[in-house]
Order: sequence, then structure tokens, then C-alpha cells
Amino acid sequence: EYEWTQDVDNTLRNIFNLDSFRPQQLSAINSTLSGQHSIVVMPTGAGKSLCYQLPALVKPGITIVISPLVSLMEDQVRSLKNRNIPAMLMTSSSPKEETQAALNLLKDKDTKIKLLYVTPERLAKSKRFMSNLQKCHADGRLQRFAIDEVHCCSQWGHDFRPDYKFLGILSNMFQNVPILGLTATATSHVLTDVQKILNIPGCLIIKSTFNRPNLFYKILEKPSSQEDCLNILEKLLKYRYKNETGIIYTNSIKDSEELASGLRKKGLKVGCYHANMEAEDRSKVHLKWHDKHYQAIVATVAFGMGIDKPDVRFVIHHTISKSMENYYQESGRAGRDGLRAECVTLYRMQDIFKISSMVFSSVGVLGHLYGMVKYCITGNICRRKLIAEHFNEDWGSDDCNQMCDVCFENNINTKEIRLESHCRTI
Ligand code: ADP
Ligand code: MG
Ligand code: ZN
Repeated sequence: EYEWTQDVDNTLRNIFNLDSFRPQQLSAINSTLSGQHSIVVMPTGAGKSLCYQLPALVKPGITIVISPLVSLMEDQVRSLKNRNIPAMLMTSSSPKEETQAALNLLKDKDTKIKLLYVTPERLAKSKRFMSNLQKCHADGRLQRFAIDEVHCCSQWGHDFRPDYKFLGILSNMFQNVPILGLTATATSHVLTDVQKILNIPGCLIIKSTFNRPNLFYKILEKPSSQEDCLNILEKLLKYRYKNETGIIYTNSIKDSEELASGLRKKGLKVGCYHANMEAEDRSKVHLKWHDKHYQAIVATVAFGMGIDKPDVRFVIHHTISKSMENYYQESGRAGRDGLRAECVTLYRMQDIFKISSMVFSSVGVLGHLYGMVKYCITGNICRRKLIAEHFNEDWGSDDCNQMCDVCFENNINTKEIRLESHCRTI
């Protein structure tokens, strides 16, 4: 229905080798191709990158991608190059020749480069970059700005980056160049703040649902001793999750080592994973888990990127996450295949203080932790309803389908279900 529709379809199939779009990807692509400022809100892993990588290829000119993490940009540029898509990266630590090449391509009418990845401080601090970008714009070759992790603009986001504030000048300085922001943060005051900072009031917001109907959410009371925690984990692994694979998230390297060795003493096959391990050992553990030699990996949140295992059947949190956003992302690694999977959190009040002393330093963080606590101490409110509210959604009041402990236990009319009896129900 648009002049580019055929091109978009062909590019999806022939260049990205994908069969179809995921929910809202096409809306985002059409919105930005029609020249509108837009913000895409999708959960992590939903496929936000395609929303700017694909449009970049169907129109002439260069797409500038702004992203806060150099390692993520390196990954993306590498995988684009593997698909023969001409892309380039420019950071403050790039070698001189590369920086020069990136600066030149902005002035070069014959350049083949379609995507140029830059860190926000490049924009904020390099006059030469900015003046070349203006030349590029004057020549009509600046196609669009894609701002990944756009919530970093806002102090209310969980990941504020001062350099992102500078991006507010783009909409004035480069008239008629569409901005496409992307984030997994759906809070309405963060989104409003982002629009204000970027000077794009009333831009189109394209949001896909955060609902994961196949995930069962559950809270267990966390005992005070590590030994008792180990007993709970042992039961879960030996009975409830027998022959299944999953992740146990801990809050510290010490916890992950203690729990892994404790579970091994109980005869369970588990691996340990954290940032203090050598990269080589980490990938060994990951592989053994992936190939089911390990039933579970006991890990800090360092275990995150590159998990592409679709049949993770459980994600257990030994300690609460530091925000609902983090919890959603970590627990969301379960059940990617669409089959039932369980997200269990061990909760005790003392852990609030443990986490808050770690994260107290940054603005707004305590508020984020509160969202997580609220989810744990809900009383008699459906956990999915709380998650939906957190992400500004309505999943329908009766739509839990007993896929949380509250609704499940209410349904079988037993107010007090003992942990033991529950654990033996497979
Ligand atoms: P996000 O930025 O939203 O966290 P990514 O852009 O990194 O997500 O994409 C996550 C994964 O989903 C990638 O491996 C990507 O190749 C895959 N993906 C994206 N779109 C599609 C699609 N339409 N069909 C199949 N896989 C897709
Ligand atoms: Mg992303
Ligand atoms: Zn429920």
C-alpha cells in the first residue's frame, strides 16, 4: 500500500533472510519511512534493531544510529557486515584512520555506507563530525536518526546518560530528518520526558505488548539461611523441573558460587556464571548448559547477552531484581518457544535493603526497586495485572488463565499451600 512496500518485503526476505515481521515491526518501519518522528516501545529481544536497519536499505542516504554501548554497536556492525550490508562504527576509541573514513563518508556523495553507528558523545563533542553531518544534510543524504535505548535521555529512566541530553538539538538542526527512538521502557512519564528532551512532541508511539501468556509467575517466601534456600532450589530442580533446563539468577558472585557448589553437593548438575570468570570458561559453561549437560546455570545478571535458547523452562530469582524492567527482561528469557515456562522469585524483605544499598546512588532508582517489591508483596492481586500496570497495559482482567500463583491458588480454593506440596506437583 506504500510505494516502498514491495522493497520492504524483498529486503526482509533476501537481505535479512526472515520470513515475516514480528508484531509492530512493520508499523514502525512504515511510520519512519513516511518521515514521521516515532518512538518504538518493545520488550528486549522483540526485534527493535530491524526497525531502523531495514528502512536504512530501502531509501537513499545514510542512517545515523546512536547507541550507548560500544560493545552492542560492535556486535551489530559485525552482523550487518556478515549480511553484506555496508555499515560502519565510530567511537571515541576508534583508530584514527577509521574516524577519518567515517568523517569523509559524510561528505562523499558516492559512499556505499548505509548505516553509521556513533556514540552520543561523538555527536555532543565533535565539531568536525557535526559540521560534516550538516554537509551531508545539505546534500539531501541524511536519511534518518535512530536513537537506540532512547530512555537514556530521561533522568526518570533506569539508565540515564548525560550525553543523551544533547540529542535534543537534532530535530531543530536537521529539519525534515525523521527521528526514530527505540526502547523497552514503557513508563508514560519517561516517554513524555523523552519527547520533550528530543523536541518531538506528539510523535507517533508504536508499542507492542509486554504480555507473555505462556509464562507462569510465582513468588516463594525466601528463608533467611543459605542452607534453607538450597533446600528449596534442590526440591524445585529435582521434582518440579526434573529433566528441564533453566536459569537461577543471584545477586552476587559470592551467592552464585555458593549456590552452585551447594547444589552440586546435592547431586545436581549445574554450572556457575559470572563476570569474574575468564571469557573462555564462561562460553564453556554456556555451551554445556545449552546442550543440556547442565540442568541449570547459577548466574549473576552477567549471564544475559547472547542467550538464544528457546526452551528455557524456568528462571528462578534467588534475589529480587533491582527494577521491574530488569525482572521482566531476566525472567523473559524463559519460554521463548511459546510453551509453558515458570518465573519464580524468592522474596524476603531484607533483600530490599541489600539491593537498595547497591543502587541508591542514582536518581530515581529507589522508585524502580519499589515496582519490584510491589510485585512481590501483592497480597491477593494477580501478578500479571501488576506487570501489565507497570508497563501501562491492560491485559484484560480475566486473562491470567491461572498463570500466576495468586490466581492459581485462588482457583483451587486453598489459601495456604505449603511449599512442599506445591513443589511436588509437576
Ligand atoms: P531488541 O533490540 O528489541 O532487544 P533485537 O533487535 O536485538 O531485539 O532482536 C532480537 C533477535 O530477534 C535477533 O536475533 C533478531 O535477529 C531477531 N528478529 C528480529 N526480528 C525478527 C523477525 N521478524 N523474525 C525473526 N527473528 C527476528
Ligand atoms: Mg536492542
Ligand atoms: Zn493471575
